[in-house]
Amino acid sequence: METLRNITTQQSQNAREAYGTPLYLYSADALETQARRTLAFPNAFGLTVRYAMKASPNAAILKRFTSLGLHIDASSGWEVRRALKAGVPAGNISLSTQQMPEDFGELHAAGIRFNACSLAQLKRFGQLFPGQLCGVRFNPGLGSGGTGKTNVGGPHSSFGIWHEWADEVEAIAQANNLTIERIHTHIGSGSDPAVWERVSHLSLALVRRFTDVKTLNLGGGFKVGRMDFEKSTDLQVVGEPVKEAFVALAEETGRKIHLEIEPGTFLLANACSLLTTVQDIVATGGLDGRQFLKLDGGMTEILRPSLYAAQHPIIISPNEPTEGTADYLVVGHCCESGDVLTVGADDPESLQPRTLTKAAIGDLCVIEGAGAYCSSMSAKNYNSFPEAAEALLEKDGTLRLIRRRQTLEQILQNEVDEV
Ligand SMILES: *Cc1c(COP(=O)(O)O)cnc(C)c1O
Repeated sequence: METLRNITTQQSQNAREAYGTPLYLYSADALETQARRTLAFPNAFGLTVRYAMKASPNAAILKRFTSLGLHIDASSGWEVRRALKAGVPAGNISLSTQQMPEDFGELHAAGIRFNACSLAQLKRFGQLFPGQLCGVRFNPGLGSGGTGKTNVGGPHSSFGIWHEWADEVEAIAQANNLTIERIHTHIGSGSDPAVWERVSHLSLALVRRFTDVKTLNLGGGFKVGRMDFEKSTDLQVVGEPVKEAFVALAEETGRKIHLEIEPGTFLLANACSLLTTVQDIVATGGLDGRQFLKLDGGMTEILRPSLYAAQHPIIISPNEPTEGTADYLVVGHCCESGDVLTVGADDPESLQPRTLTKAAIGDLCVIEGAGAYCSSMSAKNYNSFPEAAEALLEKDGTLRLIRRRQTLEQILQNEVDEV
């Protein structure tokens, strides 16, 4: 059976007492440990680590990572604005987006960096800012992700400029007198380390071709095991051959390329626990009958099981001492049959009972591995459940609320009812 990661049973009980459930509880210690690991990524000529803030964009997390020396990767103009509001210096923010922001001119004037992610984006940049420096995101022709939905490279992915269109990139750059100073690739979340390494070589080939490039950003995607049986990436192992390739390029061409990486999952995945309460237990009969634990959270807080068939550790923390275990299907509180946490591996349609400590109504149920793409990517307000609260457990054990639970008034505030 799975066990708690960063918090003790007592700390989780205290947090529930203080802020109720469902509650995201981040561990400052875990955030810092992961940040330090990324900052130690092997590099030959300098490194910038950007936190991919779409993993969890709370200002408290952005501030914490900024204070540790991380920069920011934003995936929309809105994220850029959010990071600026959190006090991140504009020069520390890089934007790689599927949709050019309406206010791009202002963001550029503020000093953010930009990677054009399509030929049309590059043209638009060139028309707005001829003669300036620009980055380009390429699709290196290969992708890799934990699932098809998290793979963002290869011919079936719309992300970045296809690597064979380098001539077109050059033509647009020339026509607008742009200097391509940065190349960016990001091939998926939960990518295979071997594919990631191959892509770094493909990306270096693009650096050779674009001779003004000073920085290569290899994106994120470092796989993190949430379940015990899942493997995590060792950054030292994947980084070492890439460092050697940078050295080889320098020996051959004299160009000392600066490295950037952009992890989201690696920094956050195991740094947060989702605290919920068992609010009902039901059973079905017959030969194929099952026992269900119903939580007071679900796809409104954690969509990954329904979306990707992701597996997350589930730990019951009983109010009264209990003995024994039982096999449960653990489900969320939404009126939606897909709101299930115990899905079978690789298939969000299948169900896989989990052996857990025997539970009673009112027990605390902790979902681990809920840091990346949970709070930021939920079925918000479905069934009109309010957005959950977020808290941070400081290293000295202090609990700090970093987002209040939404109120009914806030759910309704933009509705226009003039009848
Ligand atoms: C999402 C994203 C990342 C982070 O991916 P992880 O798998 O969370 O590390 C990095 N770069 C870009 C451009 C992204 O879109």
